[in-house]
Amino acid sequence: MLSLYNSLTKSKKMFKPINGSKVSMYTCGPTVYDHVHIGNLRSFITADLLQRVLRSVEGYDVDWILNITDVDDKMISKIKKNNPDEEPMQALGKMADTYTDMFISDIESVGIRRADIKKLPRATDHINSMQELIKRLLREKIAYISEGSVYFSLDAYKKTGKEYGVLVNLDYDPQQRVVDDQDQKNGVGDFALWKARKDDEPSWDFIWIDKNYPGRPGWHIECSAMSTEYLGNIFDIHTGGIDLKFPHHENEIAQCGGQQAKFFIHNEFLNVEGEKMSKSLGNVTTLNDMSDPLAFRLQVLQAHYRSHMDFSVDSLYAAKERLNNLRSYADSMTLAWPGQIPEQDNSGLTKKFLSEFEEALSDDLNTPAALASLNILEGKVYSQETLAALKVVEGILGIGLVDNRDLTSEERALITDYDNTRELKEYVKSDKIRKELIDKYSLSVSDTQFGPLVSRVRD
Ligand code: AMP
Ligand code: ZN
Repeated sequence: MLSLYNSLTKSKKMFKPINGSKVSMYTCGPTVYDHVHIGNLRSFITADLLQRVLRSVEGYDVDWILNITDVDDKMISKIKKNNPDEEPMQALGKMADTYTDMFISDIESVGIRRADIKKLPRATDHINSMQELIKRLLREKIAYISEGSVYFSLDAYKKTGKEYGVLVNLDYDPQQRVVDDQDQKNGVGDFALWKARKDDEPSWDFIWIDKNYPGRPGWHIECSAMSTEYLGNIFDIHTGGIDLKFPHHENEIAQCGGQQAKFFIHNEFLNVEGEKMSKSLGNVTTLNDMSDPLAFRLQVLQAHYRSHMDFSVDSLYAAKERLNNLRSYADSMTLAWPGQIPEQDNSGLTKKFLSEFEEALSDDLNTPAALASLNILEGKVYSQETLAALKVVEGILGIGLVDNRDLTSEERALITDYDNTRELKEYVKSDKIRKELIDKYSLSVSDTQFGPLVSRVRD
């Protein structure tokens, strides 16, 4: 059974879905104003791993929702700068389309299957549900209007007996007055649910008691509204990077009335030289800088999701080398001829491996231990059963481990020649063929007890 570290309880807990065999999961998605960086991708890879483990190891169905934030300050300032003459709403939509497509292509490159995500809802398609939620909070007097914006009142919320700070310990007094007179909030911890329109910014009408408050939604409200709309008032798992604990997830929970998801799963940062990768620090790397994005995925999985991960080009190369070694090992079985390697692994090591692998993942997604258990097999055990186990591994890790390309008849013929010349002890000839296989076909041959086993040479 899967145990997961739940940020709500700050402890590992056994996971059991609310609704039988169906898991509902929500991941906070990107703001689509630029390419995501690989730090962002760490959070999506973590969510993807989790949903794959839920499906493949635990046997659940998963409804995975990942939202797209398609309106916010950064997007608005970018369209103001780049498209000053275009109608703002149209410019915003175009930018969102462009970067949403790029986002989908980026996540697919790191092994996230689009089909595994049930929906990628966009904030601007859900203005109505957000407004309904805001109206409910206004009716309950947990929200108030100030200078055309609507704010969540932390004070009013706490007076209902609900706790704020369920994910993090907050050391400020939310009742303290706001000193910054630019801000129209009553309390320092209050946050915007609806932001009054400024100048020619994209905006939507918001009618409340016969008055219009044109504006746009705050960031937090979109996730509360969309998670409720697609997954219900209380769902199983909410994921995101650790920086989303506060204020974003704290606020999402409060807007949902104190309860939103049973489990909150947060990944640690991807760092560069000890600092969080972030656009504002200017230390970002994107997938455009990478030749094998799946090597990056392996690198992410080599660290436990709750540990800091230090990214460097050297560590990426090391991950790529490790991945290529694993791929070669899998090749030697996929490219074996029928009957060349045994069906069953009589040593029992394949079974031992699979149980250790799945046990490690069931223990709060311990990917470093799961990957280490591959050492039981790698380069030692060859059988169809072992290959089937590697296919299971691939289904869970999604690192492009098993290459399904077959050998051409030309390649097969050359390998048979190689085998025959070795049998006849014609080593000069066999060495020549070996060289030809590498130079011309990028195939490397190892002489084993099963005869020549072949793997592909990758850069
Ligand atoms: P954002 O677009 O900033 O909301 O980020 C999208 C997701 O990426 C969120 O879950 C963030 O917590 C996560 N994230 C941002 N930077 C990093 C980082 N350096 N390492 C890991 N996760 C990150
Ligand atoms: Zn969110």
